[in-house]
Amino acid sequence: MPAQPAQSPVSVLGLGLMGTALAAALLKAGHPTTVWNRTAAKTGPLAAQGATPADTAKDAIEASPLVIVCLTTNTDVRALLEPEADALAGRTVVNLTNGTPSQARELDSWAAAHGITYLDGGIMAVPQMIATPGAYILYSGTDEAAFAAHRDTLSALADTKWVGKDPGLAALYDLSLLTGMYGMVMGVAQAFALIGSEGVPAREFAPLLSEWIVAMTHGLVPSGAAALDSGQHLTDVSNLAMNRTAFPNFTSTFTEQGLRSDLFAPFQDLLDRAVEQGHGADGLSRLATLLKKG
Ligand code: NDP
Repeated sequence: MPAQPAQSPVSVLGLGLMGTALAAALLKAGHPTTVWNRTAAKTGPLAAQGATPADTAKDAIEASPLVIVCLTTNTDVRALLEPEADALAGRTVVNLTNGTPSQARELDSWAAAHGITYLDGGIMAVPQMIATPGAYILYSGTDEAAFAAHRDTLSALADTKWVGKDPGLAALYDLSLLTGMYGMVMGVAQAFALIGSEGVPAREFAPLLSEWIVAMTHGLVPSGAAALDSGQHLTDVSNLAMNRTAFPNFTSTFTEQGLRSDLFAPFQDLLDRAVEQGHGADGLSRLATLLKKG
């Protein structure tokens, strides 16, 4: 029988909920995996699955050409990596910590100055979704060839989506996707509070709500994108003047039902501004153009 090709070694720094899931996926895919965590006890379950625990971050870094980092914040990442610049030189760091585009660009500049290849990543999954269908990770960095070289290894974690050579792009895509999600989270919270204000059980309302959100998403997102890219916002479906006139029905019902309306009040302000600026005949897609400061 032909020998299986050896899987390349990987080191994982940071074994919180996400780092542990990432390391477990690498082990499952057959990669020799070295793990390090500030609180050493967290290496135990991974060692039982075949990982090699390292005593220090430096030992872990020196074990592999590819070093994956997943800590709480990029401030933690800098504090951990800066003293290890010599050990990291000539290796590739994939930083999967959630952060901002400017933090990613700063880390990239620091890494480049020390001969370290830097890739930034944004994980679009919770730990339980790692290495399951539907999970993906966004990547960006100045050295696309380094991403190509490690893509097979990174595919053990989740599908890979390369978004560009500006190191800040993975964080920008990640935060943009999560912005859409948090807007929905706010709407869902207010919807459950409103229906619940008359004693309707949330589980009875949930199927209607999720079907409605999916249907609206399928309608609004592609048509909004087409309008934004073409600059053609005029609509014969649901214009801003109508939405503005109807919107007080929401905020006054929240108040009548004994609920706060502060999550939604800024949306009334945005609709007012849109109509006052002459966009009353446009569709909801126009709103994205009114969010620039100044
Ligand atoms: P956890 O709180 O479970 O783990 C945080 C990890 O960071 C721990 O390993 C912790 O070490 C380590 N850490 C924190 N500060 C330092 C430091 N100064 N030096 C060294 N190590 C440090 O968080 P998660 O694993 O859930 O999240 C990690 C990252 O992944 C975050 O940026 C998060 O936003 C992102 N993410 C998480 C998702 C999730 O659903 N969990 C989804 C997508 C992204 P110790 O054990 O010693 O405290």
